[in-house]
Amino acid sequence: MSGAKFPSVPQLSVVAPCYNEAAGLPEFVRRLRAVCAELGCGYEILLVNDGSRDSTLEVAIGLAAQNPEVRVINLLRNFGHQAAVTAGLDLADGDAVVLIDSDLQDPPELIVEMVAEWRKGANVAYGKRRSRQGETAFKLFTAKIFYRLLRGLTKSQIPADAGDFRLMDRRVVETLRSMRERHRFIRGMVSWVGGKQVAVEYDRKPRFAGETKFPFRKMFAFAIDAITSFSVVPLRLVTYLALAIILLAVGATALVFVVKLINPAFFIPGYASIMLTIIFFGGLQLLALGIIGEYLGRMYESVKARPIYVIEQIYRQQDGALSGHNPTKPPPGAF
Ligand code: UDP
Ligand code: MG
Repeated sequence: MSGAKFPSVPQLSVVAPCYNEAAGLPEFVRRLRAVCAELGCGYEILLVNDGSRDSTLEVAIGLAAQNPEVRVINLLRNFGHQAAVTAGLDLADGDAVVLIDSDLQDPPELIVEMVAEWRKGANVAYGKRRSRQGETAFKLFTAKIFYRLLRGLTKSQIPADAGDFRLMDRRVVETLRSMRERHRFIRGMVSWVGGKQVAVEYDRKPRFAGETKFPFRKMFAFAIDAITSFSVVPLRLVTYLALAIILLAVGATALVFVVKLINPAFFIPGYASIMLTIIFFGGLQLLALGIIGEYLGRMYESVKARPIYVIEQIYRQQDGALSGHNPTKPPPGAF
């Protein structure tokens, strides 16, 4: 394990995606640096600017100019949280890499406990939310349903109430780097890798500044991504449903025969029942097509194999001066 290989100077990378976080970013970096200093190891902070529309980039570059540990990865446009995290993971050099949101909802101080778990031999130390402050009752309710549903549908043990806030060792990061799927559900991908994964509990705080970038619409799309990335059970359900309906139809046919034999004059008036049956099964067929379509669309996007993100430039302090450069050697599959 990398922790055991470099017991005195394990190098830590912290990856933080930022989308319109200008107001809270200086406080975030200040707290993060205090924690890293306390750990007493070499570290780097990778701020991934995910096409922010406010002054996040300028603020982040300013922070990089002041702190040699800070690198700013500026993406060409908004690629989404999971893609931004992927860009950071691809460029992180540390023996251990921490993923953390830049809005201070994930307390940087917890990294100390995560590093302790890593040093004790954990491959992954993930933050588990004991409580969530500053979230709407609706978000809490839908999150609960989602995690229970995901558990029921997938074989891999994706822990409930855990976000992407986590520490991963080099081995796990390298494996993740090789997984270039387009619709990414990173916390699930990490569970899939396996190894020793331990929970570190914390209370999730309200945002320090700004507002959430995940309205219900995006959360719903994310949930569908998660389920389709980790389960083909919905496809199988379509087959089961079809079998059940065929059985029902055979049974109903037999029933009609029997009734006609017993009483040839029996007549069932049926406009309403026929219409309702047609509408019902029409809907069911469209649903089945839709489920197949979800998987087909994802296969289509995988086959195109477009990059997950595009980097505009990387900014960092070098020899006391701030420099921006394009990455010359992108990791395999990133471009
Ligand atoms: N984020 C991002 N790209 C996006 C949306 C969000 O990089 O398209 C970042 C955002 O800056 C934050 C983290 O991802 O650091 C989590 O987003 P947010 O706090 O809005 O989500 P929530 O905590 O409300 O679920
Ligand atoms: Mg947040």
